[in-house]
Amino acid sequence: MKRITILGSTGSIGTQALEVVRDHPTVFKVTVLSALKNSELLIKQALEFKPDVVVICDESKYIEVKNALSALNIKVLAGEAALSEVAAYQESDVVLTALMGSVGLEPTITAIKAGKDIALANKETLVVAGELITKLAVEHQVKILPVDSEHSAIFQCLVGETQNEIEKIYLTASGGPFLGKSKDFLSTVKKEQALKHPNWVMGAKITIDSASLMNKGLEVIEAKWLFDLDVDQIDVIVHPQSIIHSIVQFTDGSMKAQLGVPDMKLPIQYALNYPDRLKNDFKRFNFLDYPNFSFQKADMETFRNLELAFTSLRKGGNMPCILNAANEIVVAAFLNDKIGFLQMSEVIEQCMAEISFVEKPQLSDYLETDKHSRILAGELVTKNIV
Ligand code: MN
Repeated sequence: MKRITILGSTGSIGTQALEVVRDHPTVFKVTVLSALKNSELLIKQALEFKPDVVVICDESKYIEVKNALSALNIKVLAGEAALSEVAAYQESDVVLTALMGSVGLEPTITAIKAGKDIALANKETLVVAGELITKLAVEHQVKILPVDSEHSAIFQCLVGETQNEIEKIYLTASGGPFLGKSKDFLSTVKKEQALKHPNWVMGAKITIDSASLMNKGLEVIEAKWLFDLDVDQIDVIVHPQSIIHSIVQFTDGSMKAQLGVPDMKLPIQYALNYPDRLKNDFKRFNFLDYPNFSFQKADMETFRNLELAFTSLRKGGNMPCILNAANEIVVAAFLNDKIGFLQMSEVIEQCMAEISFVEKPQLSDYLETDKHSRILAGELVTKNIV
């Protein structure tokens, strides 16, 4: 049995991971569940999956969760700090990090230090501190198993290729709901339009990131660290059908791709049960439903976030951390109708220009940078001075 800790069990990835667990009760056992504030769903999940421990980050919901689970032998913890505690839980083999944003960083570090393999859905962890995380993983001999569909695709293509050098990878992008739109159009779009992703059903933050191409930018940074690549070895290609999940090109020019209908349960299942594949009844791809695949260049002039992400990665140091923190603030502001779609890039760019650059950051530098970028981005949003 693989014993699994799920950090962020009530989100989109967390709930789909539990569907995978439900389908394979003899393969997986959930030992820890954690939620930010959705106590109702957390209780329901705990009653069904009977973990050893649950965490509710919102401390005001502690009593409610505690009372609801009092008949069962489940330890209930509250507060964000408890995440780091349970990340090291002894009775777990794999920690699925399905939290939203840079809050995933510290629990991931704790889990790695405790020797847990990481099923990484929280890409922000690698964006903020990829160098530190990958180094720690090597030191503690733990695997970082990508859950992000593009990175899972690359990871699957690399099976059996350990001796072979990667020449290049192509991360595919759907282009999101605003593919082909102009800046004029984007200047007036509202969250309701941005939240309508053509191919994937995901949480609100990542859906906005997909519409702005920031998601692809974060994924470029994530890929750099996961596969130890130079920035020039990473390319983005828009493939609106989202069937080819990404492509590896080797030094002989041969390319391998991984395909399938868009469904996050597949990469989740692959990461949780790596290296073995598990039988399932997920929808199969039918060629006749897709007589044409198409490809186009990503429009980084209109969707500036992707360009900013490449710039931050070239600059290195704490720059991707600045980009990420500012992005978390502007996405929340956009979702609250406080800022326009195009202004998101402007605030991020200004934060990248103004926050002090640290070339070789330690954990404390990342935490400081994250805090300062959030404050500055917040001020720029409120004053509306971009
Ligand atoms: Mn992805």
